[in-house]
Amino acid sequence: MIDAFSAEPPPWAKSARHSLTFSCPVCDASARAAESAWINRRSPVYGSDGRRKWQEFYHCSCGCSWWSWSSDRPAPSTEES
Ligand SMILES: [Zn+2]
Repeated sequence: MIDAFSAEPPPWAKSARHSLTFSCPVCDASARAAESAWINRRSPVYGSDGRRKWQEFYHCSCGCSWWSWSSDRPAPSTEES
């Protein structure tokens, strides 16, 4: 099992595609549906608003890997559980 906070990126993260929608660019599945996740906390970046953000990698069940900036994560919806 892959630790999301591990220092080393998992193999599937190397081929990850950048998603601007915080969902799989292939099948549009949400991050919470991903089979595994990895957060690159070693390399935070300061956004234009001065807040830190980092890359969140997701390995989708369709086989695609993608990543988004943590600042692009949509606010949790109370309608989804
Ligand atoms: Zn997918």
